[in-house]
Amino acid sequence: MTSEKKQTALAAIASEIATCQKCQLHKQRTKTVPGSGNPDAEVLFIGEAPGKSEDLQGEPFIGAAGKFLNQMLESINWRREDIFIANVVKCRPPDNRDPEPAEVKTCWDFLAKQIEIIAPKLIVTLGRHSMNRFLPGLKISAAHGKAVRRKDGKIFLPLYHPAAALYSPSQKEVHLIDFAKIPKILEKISEISNSDKFTELDEN
Ligand code: URA
Repeated sequence: MTSEKKQTALAAIASEIATCQKCQLHKQRTKTVPGSGNPDAEVLFIGEAPGKSEDLQGEPFIGAAGKFLNQMLESINWRREDIFIANVVKCRPPDNRDPEPAEVKTCWDFLAKQIEIIAPKLIVTLGRHSMNRFLPGLKISAAHGKAVRRKDGKIFLPLYHPAAALYSPSQKEVHLIDFAKIPKILEKISEISNSDKFTELDEN
């Protein structure tokens, strides 16, 4: 799909989200947060749900966790414009509670379509909730920083949620180390697609 077509398709989803009333989360939202970034991004970041700042401004990861995410991007010389960021649910759950299973189920189609349109080489999940939506049963303490390829061919890199570093600053180093693996993983993905040979990903 051309860049222009991707942009149009993503905008159509965002308009659908803007008027969505399929679950109870629409009642208390200020703005919907469909996701934003580069439609041609090689990497799609997926968090769980918008928080207070995101709800007010309609943009993902713009609060304190988002600032740390920006720092991590800078640490690999990337910017927000290089990636696309979305959440599993597009409206803020009241008091930042976890989204309920029915809310996730209702919202899932939007994310599935975004993934299909962007067709990223790598999906980076932020936090254990987002990870377990795609990779059920994995434990974030063991899975973080290791790329895994699912049976359907999609490749994921589970990372700790950037908000976790705000509660335990001593963990910032771990976040940065994991983050630094992203460019290498992308290189490896290109090697795999350019070669007939199977290349292991999980040594990362
Ligand atoms: N946390 C998330 O998971 N998503 C956001 O957009 C902001 C904070």
